[in-house]
Amino acid sequence: MTENSLDGKPLHGKRAIVTGSTSGIGAGIARVLAEAGCQLTLNGFGERDLIEEMRDELARNSGAEIAYYQADVSDEIQFSALVADMEARLGGVDILVNNAGVQHVAPVEDFASERWDAMIAVNLTAAFYGIRAALPGMKRRNWGRIINIASAHGLVASPNKSGYVAAKHGLIGLTKVVALENAMTGVTCNAVCPGWVRTPLVERQLEARASREGVTVDAAAHSLLAEKHPNMAFIEASDIGALIVWLCGDAARSVTGAALSMDGGWTAQ
Ligand code: NAD
Repeated sequence: MTENSLDGKPLHGKRAIVTGSTSGIGAGIARVLAEAGCQLTLNGFGERDLIEEMRDELARNSGAEIAYYQADVSDEIQFSALVADMEARLGGVDILVNNAGVQHVAPVEDFASERWDAMIAVNLTAAFYGIRAALPGMKRRNWGRIINIASAHGLVASPNKSGYVAAKHGLIGLTKVVALENAMTGVTCNAVCPGWVRTPLVERQLEARASREGVTVDAAAHSLLAEKHPNMAFIEASDIGALIVWLCGDAARSVTGAALSMDGGWTAQ
């Protein structure tokens, strides 16, 4: 529990942005942060009606103010405008979760330059834009939490993911620099490194694996776990959300510059 705890909501009144929260892990993190009492801005692409349904449900269930702002976070101007909108509406951003991400799978010699550029732009440069825009306000208030959703692929590699692995390793490097530059302030910056979570981004890879191996998607999921996760289980987005709530609490005030794994033992091997 933090000092701000009210009604059992440990992050009551904190103002948070979760990029890429219209799907998958980001949606799971958003749900947990809303339940923890955050005033939240959702971001990402998708069908407007479905996003409005999600926003409305989160607001009703949590009683918190939930907004949606559609910005392409790989665009500097759009990400700055998202942060400025939050500052104008609510007076600041306390928690920035850089989660938006994309994947592309191909051997390095076939990896199209546009795909490489997109991997770096969304998975790495966007976090830089968001941090640069949100940090001055956090420093002024001497409190902030920056959480970058990296990946086990920020720590180890797999074939055919050059752009993604390079971006996620870079994101952990960026995390460390921001942590050091702000070590004497109330702002922490950490990376979370999940293993496999069954989101749309991963379902596409499971389908490709199933057709490559001539097996069902469930069998492909099982063989993927056997290859990567010693605990033979996928990670739950809500567990990643719970880790983020902990990182936002007072007990984590000295955790900064860390790359925290939640990967069923993958990177312990
Ligand atoms: P997902 O495809 O389900 O969701 C990605 C989200 O990012 C969507 O909301 C999408 O609209 C948004 N997005 C994409 N490009 C954007 C842009 N330019 N601007 C704004 N929003 C954008 O993917 P996911 O699996 O939930 O992945 C979320 C994050 O977690 C990514 O950074 C991914 O690399 C990371 N991750 C995923 C896994 C996994 O197994 N699923 C594992 C480790 C790390």
